[in-house]
Amino acid sequence: MRSASGGLNAGSDNAGENIVKHILVIGGGIGGLSAAIRLGADGFRVTLVEKNSRVGGKLNLWEAVHPGRPLDRPFRFDTGPSLLTMPFVFEELFAAAGETLADHLTLQRLDPIARYRWPDGTTFEARSGSDALLKEIAKIAPGDVEGWKRLAARGKRIWELSAELFLYHSPEQIFGKGLSPAGALSAIAVPIRIGMFANFARTVHRHLHHPKLREVLYQYATYSGASPFKAPATLAVIPHAEFGFGGWYVQGGLYRIAEELEKLARRKGVEIQTGCAVREILVERDDRGGKIAKARTAGVTLEDGEVIRADAVVANSDVVYTYRKLIDSKHRKRYDDRTLDKLEAGGSGMMLMLGIEGEYPQLAHHNKFMPRDYRSDLRAMFETRTVPDDPCIYVCASTRTDPTQAPACCENLFVLASAPPLDGSIDWKIEGPRYRDQLVRALEHRWGLTGLAKRIVVERSFTPLDLQNSYNANAGSIYGIGSNSRRTAFLRPPNRDKEIRGLYFCGGATHPGGGLPLVALSGKIVSELVREDLG
Ligand SMILES: Cc1cc2nc3c(=O)[nH]c(=O)nc-3n(C[C@H](O)[C@H](O)[C@H](O)COP(=O)(O)OP(=O)(O)OC[C@H]3O[C@@H](n4cnc5c(N)ncnc54)[C@H](O)[C@@H]3O)c2cc1C
Repeated sequence: MRSASGGLNAGSDNAGENIVKHILVIGGGIGGLSAAIRLGADGFRVTLVEKNSRVGGKLNLWEAVHPGRPLDRPFRFDTGPSLLTMPFVFEELFAAAGETLADHLTLQRLDPIARYRWPDGTTFEARSGSDALLKEIAKIAPGDVEGWKRLAARGKRIWELSAELFLYHSPEQIFGKGLSPAGALSAIAVPIRIGMFANFARTVHRHLHHPKLREVLYQYATYSGASPFKAPATLAVIPHAEFGFGGWYVQGGLYRIAEELEKLARRKGVEIQTGCAVREILVERDDRGGKIAKARTAGVTLEDGEVIRADAVVANSDVVYTYRKLIDSKHRKRYDDRTLDKLEAGGSGMMLMLGIEGEYPQLAHHNKFMPRDYRSDLRAMFETRTVPDDPCIYVCASTRTDPTQAPACCENLFVLASAPPLDGSIDWKIEGPRYRDQLVRALEHRWGLTGLAKRIVVERSFTPLDLQNSYNANAGSIYGIGSNSRRTAFLRPPNRDKEIRGLYFCGGATHPGGGLPLVALSGKIVSELVREDLG
């Protein structure tokens, strides 16, 4: 048997009088890295095991050499996130480890954040500054400017009321202890005040009348894996996070975040093992002296049978996958398979990485090509669970901001269109290539990327099945559990397991949700819970 940190099969280390507790993190996604860095900085001995050959999870990278120009710099694609929001969360993460983000990463604020185009030729630039943004809104619907302002104010208010409470803390930290009766009462009132019981689309409709502006807003619900028609109005905070704090690019590509977090973790003493998959979380019953035998984690067994013992296990692997596949069902009454079946997976997507000879100057860094009927796209993803006939197509051309991402006079197009989470009804081995052709045809013939098919020199595609297989993402979901109901939006499986002591969760399927900044915050929350429990 092997210990990740050198000592054979060790749990805690005895360093003189002090016992250094050993924390095992499963998965090197951004949530796992964030937890590991904070725990390492707190003085815990931390081992992170990642099944893939590099860390980052869905924040991943694909590089490919131009076949005709092997000596040129390669095409570089961020294969997951392409837009960073709430960058201060990452500044706080570096600061928690005693360092400064700006010493390691160069962030660039994008303007426009995204360019929208509709089939009738209408365009909308989601501008960064509020005056410029209001001018864009006035271009489409002057009558909606005031409504947009009111909705933006509502998003800001939701942020002010809820960010510290619900994004920076877990519900149990808020309601568990430490709140005065008055504080608890005001925390209980917050869900009503932040629109938890109102509907997102209806709230949008009350403020905006132009269908195209409504569609722009609908998009934001999908960023948390939810349908705008089912999600709570609280999600109005998402456009606030983007317009209020800006949409950002990281020089060198977003994968630079994972690279620098990995280095930071190692500087904090975290041992990182890649190509190392966990097969089982070990659970032991501790009935010494107690009437009821308490279950607690003892470490993990790796795929190759080796055991790493630890005082606590932090699972950054998807929560549903972790319960179902890594924990023996006899240890989980609360999250038995039937309960897990009821947790609705968020939406998924079809991704294409297209290395193109030549350039399309009409593209902005982020582009949204809107379909004739956006509602039918949403229906396909969230109701009929089919591949949409006419989806919104997102195209990222990061060479607009950073020419190092492709060989000279070439484009690295990252294309994303919606797809339902896996439920066994779509054979992606057949649908994947068909959907790929559909998207390339639409970009070429409807959206003016002339000669696209012939200009592709390197290419890779990623279906929901690939998302599931690559990251153990439940149902291939992009953001983990969807936010279609109050339960899934606010009462996700908790960061600290209630049945098995020493077991914690961070990442998109637990609190506070998916997306880079939120999963990084889940790492912060988990590090605090571990510290609370283990000292
Ligand atoms: C196409 C796409 C576009 C996106 N766009 C954006 C965007 O623009 N902005 C944004 O903020 N967010 C975006 N997201 C969402 C964002 O990528 C995720 O919310 C976030 O990266 C998830 O992080 P996580 O901590 O939940 O871990 P994950 O990324 O899910 O990583 C979990 C890790 O655990 C590992 N693992 C799983 N099982 C095991 C095991 N048994 N043993 C060892 N390791 C294991 C996996 O290999 C993986 O590395 C996008 C996602 C996708 C897929």
